[in-house]
Amino acid sequence: MTTDNSSDNFKEFHSFMGMLQNLDVGLVVLDREYNIQLWNNFMESHSGLHPYEVRDQLLFDIFTEINEEWFRHKAECVFQLNTRAFTTWEQRPYLFKFKNYRPITGSAEFMYQNVTIIPLDSSVGVVERIGIIVYDVTDVAVNRIELKAVNDELKRLSRTDKLTGLFNRGYWEECLSKEFKRAKRYEQVSSLIMFDIDHFKHVNDQYGHPAGDAAIKNTADALIMNMRETDVAGRYGGEEYAIVLINTRAEQAKIFAERLRKHIEESVVHYQDISFQYTVSLGIAELSDGISNHEEWMEAADHALYQSKEGGRNCVSVYKGK
Ligand code: GH3
Ligand code: MG
Ligand code: MG
Repeated sequence: MTTDNSSDNFKEFHSFMGMLQNLDVGLVVLDREYNIQLWNNFMESHSGLHPYEVRDQLLFDIFTEINEEWFRHKAECVFQLNTRAFTTWEQRPYLFKFKNYRPITGSAEFMYQNVTIIPLDSSVGVVERIGIIVYDVTDVAVNRIELKAVNDELKRLSRTDKLTGLFNRGYWEECLSKEFKRAKRYEQVSSLIMFDIDHFKHVNDQYGHPAGDAAIKNTADALIMNMRETDVAGRYGGEEYAIVLINTRAEQAKIFAERLRKHIEESVVHYQDISFQYTVSLGIAELSDGISNHEEWMEAADHALYQSKEGGRNCVSVYKGK
């Protein structure tokens, strides 16, 4: 009777071990010194290391990618408090750096993992070993990451003007409003430049609308080429542009505007077999005490732009106050 019972237990134990071995999750058992005691098939096939190669080896010696301090801190809680601990791929992409071989989620370089650490052998209240369960969540992670990339791209597209790649009017104005508040709060000076292509109706009439579009694109390219990374540029209207020069006084903004004006004046637009030149007029408004919101700031720059148009075009004017 006793023999039958223990043989049943033995069989049960073996089928249980077989199940653990063949689970589609990683299973690792560590002793109190962090030496590896058990290593299932999943771990073997993904690491390329046989159980006999890792048995009784210190985890951190074999897997140097594991942040020892962080892992010990997590595992000590399991040992001492006899509770589970978790880490997700969003917190840390993986515990064990395994290559990702899945064909569908092939864009991932490594396997994303969720990890649970469980206390074992705690019958007498002392945790002597811990189990690490490694879940392959590459499918979920890649899906989520790709979805985020698509969303980011959609967001970017909804902010940008298709022809020029500059910010569109709505988004640019939002940026201007934020910069207005930031500059006021920190008592800093920024300058706003608004500019417009001269006699653009004539460009369209003479060379056609698509050639006009080429000039609009050329102007944006010149703007991008001349601006700094922190400056915020947008296409304000058909052939109207605006740029905020962060932490810049009107004198420096004028140097920038002159450079841009000259660059455009000298550039030649090629469209099919047509080549032509054109100019722009610019207006600058430094953020002064008299300006109490971003709309007034724009009005000031527009006023200066109007002066440039009145003054004969292809020139730069600075707003001098009301
Ligand atoms: P000014 O020197 O006073 O600015 O004269 P202008 O002829 O440029 O006058 P205005 O700025 O009022 O003209 C804007 C013209 O730009 C009118 C419109 O047909 C044209 N336009 C607006 N958007 C586009 C566009 O996306 N592509 C092209 N090709 N033309 C556009
Ligand atoms: Mg215009
Ligand atoms: Mg114009």
